[in-house]
Amino acid sequence: MVPYLYGTDMPRAGFKSVTLKEETYRELEDTYRQEKEILAREGIGSLTAFVTRIVSSYLREREKTRLRHFNIYESVIRIQDSKIGRLVDVDYRNGEMFCSLCHSTECLHTGFAWGIYRQHHTSRQ
Ligand SMILES: [Zn+2]
Repeated sequence: MVPYLYGTDMPRAGFKSVTLKEETYRELEDTYRQEKEILAREGIGSLTAFVTRIVSSYLREREKTRLRHFNIYESVIRIQDSKIGRLVDVDYRNGEMFCSLCHSTECLHTGFAWGIYRQHHTSRQ
């Protein structure tokens, strides 16, 4: 019945586990215990929910700095996408932004390019 025993330590359906050093785990647990009442008011009622909150906020912050304006050359806005580690050219033509990577007028890059375009044109006036 060894496989059954292993099975009892498996995360429940819809969850995945990450192994942490005991020291890190204890630190997380202590922090959770200290802030338990405040966290409960924010709807966080378990250590799992607490860790999920920490990880999600880190990933959101990271996403905010994913795209950086590289340069503008004629009708091309060049963007550095740190998630894929590439420069992406967005072409402004016929009143639309066209992303050379996604072959689309509506992607993360074109949205970012519109922001740069507006900034560029308002600062020039
Ligand atoms: Zn794109």
